[in-house]
Amino acid sequence: MNQIYHVLLVEDESFDAELNIREIKKVLPSCIFEVVDNKEAYQYQLKSFLPDIIISDYNLPSFDGLSALRIAQNVCPLIPFVIVTGSINEDTAVECMKAGAMDYVLKDSLKRLGSSVLSALEQRRIRQERAEAVETIRLNEAKYRYMFHNNPQPMWIYDITSLSFLEVNEAAIRHYGYSQSEFLSMTLKDILLAEELEKDIQSTDNQFKQIKEWTHIKKNGEHIFVEIISHALIFNQRNAKHVLINDITERKTTEEKLKQERKLLRTLIDNLPVTIYVKDAECRKIIANRADLAIVGAESESDVIGKTDLDTFNNEIGQRGFADDQRVIETAQAVLNREEDFYDKDGTQRWLVTSKIPLPDENGKIVGLVGIGRDITEHKLAQEKILKLSKGIEQSPTTIVITDTLGNIEYVNPKFYESTGYEENEVIGKNPRILKSGLTPPETYAELWDTIKSGKVWSGEMLNKRKDGTNYWEWVTITSIKNDKNITTSYIAIKEDISERKKMEAELVAAKEKAEESDRLKSAFLANMSHEIRTPLNSIIGFSELLSDTDFDQEQKAEFIKTIIENGNSLLLIISDIMDFSMLEAHQIKIRTEKISSKKLLKDVLIDFTNKANQKGIELRIDESSNDSDVWIESDNYRIKQVFNNLVGNALKFTQNGSIEIGYKLKDELVEFRVKDTGIGISPANFEAVFERFRQVDTARTRKYGGNGLGLAISKNMVELLGGTIWVDSVLNEYSDFRFTIPIKK
Ligand code: ADP
Repeated sequence: MNQIYHVLLVEDESFDAELNIREIKKVLPSCIFEVVDNKEAYQYQLKSFLPDIIISDYNLPSFDGLSALRIAQNVCPLIPFVIVTGSINEDTAVECMKAGAMDYVLKDSLKRLGSSVLSALEQRRIRQERAEAVETIRLNEAKYRYMFHNNPQPMWIYDITSLSFLEVNEAAIRHYGYSQSEFLSMTLKDILLAEELEKDIQSTDNQFKQIKEWTHIKKNGEHIFVEIISHALIFNQRNAKHVLINDITERKTTEEKLKQERKLLRTLIDNLPVTIYVKDAECRKIIANRADLAIVGAESESDVIGKTDLDTFNNEIGQRGFADDQRVIETAQAVLNREEDFYDKDGTQRWLVTSKIPLPDENGKIVGLVGIGRDITEHKLAQEKILKLSKGIEQSPTTIVITDTLGNIEYVNPKFYESTGYEENEVIGKNPRILKSGLTPPETYAELWDTIKSGKVWSGEMLNKRKDGTNYWEWVTITSIKNDKNITTSYIAIKEDISERKKMEAELVAAKEKAEESDRLKSAFLANMSHEIRTPLNSIIGFSELLSDTDFDQEQKAEFIKTIIENGNSLLLIISDIMDFSMLEAHQIKIRTEKISSKKLLKDVLIDFTNKANQKGIELRIDESSNDSDVWIESDNYRIKQVFNNLVGNALKFTQNGSIEIGYKLKDELVEFRVKDTGIGISPANFEAVFERFRQVDTARTRKYGGNGLGLAISKNMVELLGGTIWVDSVLNEYSDFRFTIPIKK
């Protein structure tokens, strides 16, 4: 009680005032006193002295104690007021007490004043404290009310028995869209989802701070997810609950979206046909998709999670992978499209194309890596197969051409160049018709296209043309190439150059034909020969018999003898022809070399045949050019004469009128002899055939002239044996001009 109290004394008697002061000082020694004795001073001091207690006499000259009390109660209502009086009765005192005085002290028992003052001050203190408490409560309530209504978080108070809203704040009103009065006429059930009404609301949110999730419905029908914090309280004498609402719709939606996205991502990476994994900064796997598990032969993700490549693979492959991982993490550089091979759990070699990409956190620090790998085993094996096949095609000894469905060349192997002379770049994109010789019939092409378009294989021969213009024969097999959908994408042609074979075939055919012809000719020759031999032989025998007949005279017999000699000669000729021919065939002819004068040779021929020519009325002469200087040759005179005999004999045989001209002329190292007649002539088609053995061309026309078909064949052989050549030039029914050469020197 060290407080210095201000005590205002209302007393007109200074002596009494002194007494009062003395009594008060006994209990409150350090008080400050002010004494007033009229109303004005009293009113003034109430405001300026600010007393803690008023001690007032009841009877005063200008006003009384009751008025003083009332004035005090107006200015400072809590101030303790003690009445000191000596004259009043109990009624006056009661009236003062009723009016708010704290105590009254009779002047005759003034000793009580000290304790009365103390008690009044104590009461004032208590009263003041209570007033302050009431004020605090009042202020608090206003504060809370303010905080409740203006809190940005929606909140309300509801009656836990009826569930009706008792109070809602502005945020709740804004958030839910109901006005305050709407809210206050609703219950909690009006904003709950039908199925959530089943929940036991009371039991679920009984506890303070227990967070619950609910689905609420706004006035506009929108559903929101909310988190509720509630606690019980008494509100307006009712059991109520204060509820704080936290709208978590966005969070929930985001969470749901994230969950969905994560699920989607997982489904995606699990179903991608590539291996995908994520590793941490220590190169340990933290995510592995199904393809990755399959390739390492793991049953489940837990088999590989937390493991490095060193743990998963054997030494060399594991070290390589682990070193790669470390490099990616240390250098933050991706490894792209690295081809890796390894052995799977069955020991089969597999290939992967792997990319490893560093994985940064939000600060850019590399915290791991993402690996993506594509299993290229099938591709690799297919590639090897393709390589083998393409090598086979490249090195194939047959020509291979691949075209698109329109026939444009897409590929040719190196053999193509060899067989056609076209370089690859000259034909790519072109149509194989560049090879057409024009000699393969159009029907062949039509049939070819019909066949391959219907999906069948076409094979056949074609006569094609090379770049240099020469033709060649090919055996071509064309087939369509189909894709997985059985659609023809290209055609492949396999071509074999069969020119040689064709040539051999042609030769064989020719040889066969020749053999057959030869056979035929031989038969004809034999028939002919028998006729040729028999004819002279018959007349020799016939006339020989007639010689012994006495009926014929000498002259007649001389004629017979002449005929016999003629026929004998002709027989001899035939036989010597046959002999010569046989000897030629057997290479038995011997050549004798001597010096021959061409001039003399021709003269001898002329002499030999002049008679015969004259008989037939044909002029036989040596041509003019042969009158020039003589040409000496070294050869077989007998054989050359034989050739002449044949040629001039034929000329006589096939010429009915006109002349026969024989001659020679020098041609470099050769002498060219000729026998030209004006006979029936030979058609150009037979220029060669006439020199074949047994050959009598145009049999019908020449049959009547006789002969064995050996003469020219023998002549040809002879000329060639002597180192020369023989040929004929002729115009039918005008002339035949036979020429042959003989080298001057053997
Ligand atoms: P052949 O004994 O039949 O005369 P060759 O070998 O001497 O036999 O002649 C063959 C064929 O050539 C003759 O049958 C004839 O058709 C034709 N020939 C030969 N010489 C002449 C010629 N000077 N004029 C016309 N045809 C000829």
